[in-house]
Amino acid sequence: MTDTRTVETGGTVRTRLLIIGSGPAGYTAAIYAARAMLEPVLVAGIQPGGQMTITTDVENYPGFADVIQGPWLMEQMRAQAEHVGTRMHYDHLVKADLSRRPFRLEGDSGTVYLADALVLATGAQAKWLGLPSEEQFKGYGVSACATCDGFFYRGKRVVVIGGGNTAVEEALYLTHHADKVTLVHRRGELRAERILQERLFAHPKIEVVWHHELAEVEGGGTPPGVTGARLRDLRTGAERVVPVDGIFVAIGHAPATELVKGQLQLRSSGYVWTAPDSTATSVPGVFAAGDVTDDVFRQAITAAGMGCMAALEAERFLAANPVHQEEAVAA
Ligand code: FAD
Ligand code: NAP
Repeated sequence: MTDTRTVETGGTVRTRLLIIGSGPAGYTAAIYAARAMLEPVLVAGIQPGGQMTITTDVENYPGFADVIQGPWLMEQMRAQAEHVGTRMHYDHLVKADLSRRPFRLEGDSGTVYLADALVLATGAQAKWLGLPSEEQFKGYGVSACATCDGFFYRGKRVVVIGGGNTAVEEALYLTHHADKVTLVHRRGELRAERILQERLFAHPKIEVVWHHELAEVEGGGTPPGVTGARLRDLRTGAERVVPVDGIFVAIGHAPATELVKGQLQLRSSGYVWTAPDSTATSVPGVFAAGDVTDDVFRQAITAAGMGCMAALEAERFLAANPVHQEEAVAA
């Protein structure tokens, strides 16, 4: 059997358990795995702390009677994971070979990671509408993150597209900066939770436009800037331009599966398939947790719960399937 300890030599990291992602799923897996003495290595990716770092108030993560901040919560999780023995790598994985053990992954940094087991917790990323004008003005008035870019719209007018929790929270957040916020939704009812809807409807700075979609972003100039949102009424097809300075697209998130495409079985929804009541994927020794596999709940607490499950299942797997020295050397 190989040494149970994680070894870092030159540009190679050899570990029993590699955890990919530093959101609630990844950090929770790391906390459990480190306490199981697996000396896990966690690769944080380009968004250390994950999606919770782009929100502000968090009111539904258990254990805090007062409102807490998303980035603060993730900082606590990182500190706890490191405190119990997780080794952090601030790298982004670009290649994975899951065809045999130890699994072989490569980072942006050039580092090679060899792991006997893997927890995939790569989460999800914002979806875009796919309009050419949206692409043209990304970063110049079109954004998918109000907490990152809201500050630039002090005293201005903005539009938010979407009808879920993210869209409603983004609209509410933007009222701290903008003078007017218009929420545009393609249907006649929101899917956001009731408490958020009540806050939205009661806010004097927010107007809701129902049954409309964004047809095009209007703008121009050098550097480019947004001047309006061309909205289309989905019932009549009629179009009108609402003058705005910024457009926030908040239409949901897609699972981050690029790294494992073609190697792990995905569901028809594009999320990573896992066995019922388990985080086991189609490849033995690879476990998936959080938003990369969850197309139903997609919450910080459910991601954390799955991270715990993945670490416990990885521990059991490693106990039953140790990698032999010859295999490790051959890799
Ligand atoms: P993520 O948080 O998405 O983290 C994924 C991690 O994987 C990141 O660290 C990323 O860097 C890393 N990664 C991705 N690809 C790679 C790669 N190739 N190599 C290495 N690393 C990689 N939920 C709540 O419960 N309460 C809330 O109040 C709440 N507010 C939200 C507000 C917003 C604006 C958004 C967008 C979501 C919110 N959510 C909230 C949902 C919650 O953030 C997610 O359910 C949760 O973060 C999912 O955790 P995760 O660990 O699965 O993935
Ligand atoms: P979501 O719940 O999937 O909602 C996406 C919204 O965008 C829906 O209203 C959808 O419309 C709309 N939409 C999708 N594609 C569109 C398109 N092409 N054009 C126009 N509109 C489109 O996504 P989310 O709001 O990002 O939330 C993701 C997950 O994170 C959810 O599970 C959510 O609960 C969680 N989250 C939780 C909190 C919180 O707990 N406070 C905060 C943020 C996010 P339809 O309604 O018509 O489908």
